[in-house]
Amino acid sequence: MQTNFTDEQLQDPDLRESNKILRTCVHCGFCTATCPTFVLLGDELDSPRGRIYLIKDMLENGKPATARVVKHLDRCLSCMSCMTTCPSGVHYAHLVDHARGYIEATYTRPWHDRALRWLLCELIPRPTLFRWSLRSAQLAQPLKGLMRGRMRAMLELAPKSLPKPSPVDRPQVIPAEGPRRARVAILTGCAQRVLDTNINEATVRLLTRHGVEVVVADGMGCCGSLPHHLGKLEDSHAKAAANIEAWWKETEAGGGPGLDAIVINASGCGTTVKDYAFVFREDAKLKDKAEAISALTRDVTEYLLEIGVMPPTRRTGHTVAYHSACSMQHGQQLKTQPQRLLTEAGFKVKGVPEGHLCCGSAGVYNVLQPKIANQLRTRKLANIAKTQPAIIATGNVGCMTQLGPHSEAPVVHTVELIDWATGGPLPKGLAGRIEETAAEPVQVAAS
Ligand code: SF4
Ligand code: SF4
Repeated sequence: MQTNFTDEQLQDPDLRESNKILRTCVHCGFCTATCPTFVLLGDELDSPRGRIYLIKDMLENGKPATARVVKHLDRCLSCMSCMTTCPSGVHYAHLVDHARGYIEATYTRPWHDRALRWLLCELIPRPTLFRWSLRSAQLAQPLKGLMRGRMRAMLELAPKSLPKPSPVDRPQVIPAEGPRRARVAILTGCAQRVLDTNINEATVRLLTRHGVEVVVADGMGCCGSLPHHLGKLEDSHAKAAANIEAWWKETEAGGGPGLDAIVINASGCGTTVKDYAFVFREDAKLKDKAEAISALTRDVTEYLLEIGVMPPTRRTGHTVAYHSACSMQHGQQLKTQPQRLLTEAGFKVKGVPEGHLCCGSAGVYNVLQPKIANQLRTRKLANIAKTQPAIIATGNVGCMTQLGPHSEAPVVHTVELIDWATGGPLPKGLAGRIEETAAEPVQVAAS
């Protein structure tokens, strides 16, 4: 694509980067077929190619974003399905992130939109506040029928009950069982540790059972992806910088005992942390540290395959529909690892038809764009039902929250199933919904 930025504009490193990305697009339109919003809405401006044109015009003109541009970029899920499809390697993620920051800096949203975005960014990354707000939402459930749009979507997403805070989420070092073979830091997340404490607990059990010491670093918190995708770049960079410093202190180069990996069990957060190196590429103070942290980062399934998982100690055999989160398959390009682990643990794993399409969760998209998000959820659940699963597994808490309350089959995290198969307890989400199987050594054919 031809671009016309001035030399002065190209002094700005972000514009320089976006110019480079724009020039790789050859307008072929292959990406439109796999873009969920284009598939649903059929409008070129709600396709990756249409959005790329809108972004190009907005950035080249250097004028404040218009309501038209904002409407179509707000509808983008940042699912990155277009990046998987694109034959030219257009880095749409970095382009749309830049555009969102530009919109935030130049466009004044209606007050209710600003207020909601501010509230989401303030509440969700703070577990105590988030817990408190979810409890308030539970109290407001009887009023749900009177509400419409985003308010109703928020109430519908609030879970009926919340677990107590888990001790594993506090800063600490959790020793390996038996001889220590590795030492890793985990990201305990922000929303995840309020919505579902089982995921971090299963992750810690699984890692320590495999001889891995687990560090929950003091000062680590939200990965920054929530404000990042809302264009609040200063906030997201501050959160990322805090994590980088917290983990850096644990590395040998940072004066700590050393880290073999940073293990992340929410694929949305993993995608963001793996991108810290790009975010801080122009930051003299953090560039090297951010590169080191991104290089150490692994999704939990990626890491488990690297160290090798013990054979299952329990006969499972249930049919599992594996729903691959967009951040897993498109953001991190991890397309086979979780399924391989589940198969090796004895489950009958089935891929989901139209598996490349988003379930509509996409961070807080299901609050901000509830109509599209609900359509995507309905479509996803219909596709999942075709596999007739006993269990649905996924690697991102956002997808679990989006699908779980509307699904016939229970939705759990992949690590909960691997933990169960190798000696852990039955995942809480499966209690009363599937039969517990006896613990016994079992032979499973390799995938
Ligand atoms: S597939 Fe890639 S090159 Fe083709 S229009 Fe989409 S973004 Fe541009
Ligand atoms: S990120 Fe997803 S929704 Fe956005 S343009 Fe790409 S495919 Fe479409």
